[in-house]
Amino acid sequence: MKSCETRQINIRAIQHFLYCPRRFGLLEINGDWAENVAVVKGNLIHERVHSGEKGSCRNGYSVTAVSLFNDELDIYGVSDCIEFSPDKNGGYTGEDGEKYSVTFVEYKPTRPKDGEISLPDAVQVFAQKLCGDKMFGCSCKGAIYYADVRKRIMMPFDSEYDRYYELVTGLISQMRVILDRGEIPPRKKGQKCSGCSLENVCIPKCDNFSVRENIRSMLAE
Ligand code: SF4
Repeated sequence: MKSCETRQINIRAIQHFLYCPRRFGLLEINGDWAENVAVVKGNLIHERVHSGEKGSCRNGYSVTAVSLFNDELDIYGVSDCIEFSPDKNGGYTGEDGEKYSVTFVEYKPTRPKDGEISLPDAVQVFAQKLCGDKMFGCSCKGAIYYADVRKRIMMPFDSEYDRYYELVTGLISQMRVILDRGEIPPRKKGQKCSGCSLENVCIPKCDNFSVRENIRSMLAE
């Protein structure tokens, strides 16, 4: 088993963990998976976005489905869309020698009902940005595009960088501890479950479940 320090974390898993640590455990430790309407909607949107082609956007050019990594934090993932906009003050120099600013755009099917920014979504884009900052050698911007209202919301990463950085790195540390223990966290008090695709998998297993203990007991039989 990899140690806490070296275990690679998928950016998508950070979002799952923030939404519900138990969901993260069921997915990452138990290998559980189930789809519901929200998951299928999201997958369909991402299939369309992830053409992998370079294209033009409102201002400059864009690429999709780029593999992302940040070696320092040992996190990785795949982008939805990365936009490169001509900007004489931009921190990224393109292959054409021009200066660009770089924006990560994540596509989501539905805008949150209780506000403009969903924290798990923002954290996902911030983790992508941390990869982009290293890969492109500049400070990248982040945005979420909500398909149902066709609206793009810019993330406040310049003004709230420290807050998001502490949050993301703290979550990653907690996730590594849980993965190392191999224990699926119990259901949190007050956890909102409607919309979770794993509800049918999770509810019958609401007691603490440990893969390690389960295997030990199987070997002892
Ligand atoms: S059903 Fe609720 S507690 Fe269980 S994984 Fe989903 S969100 Fe978490």
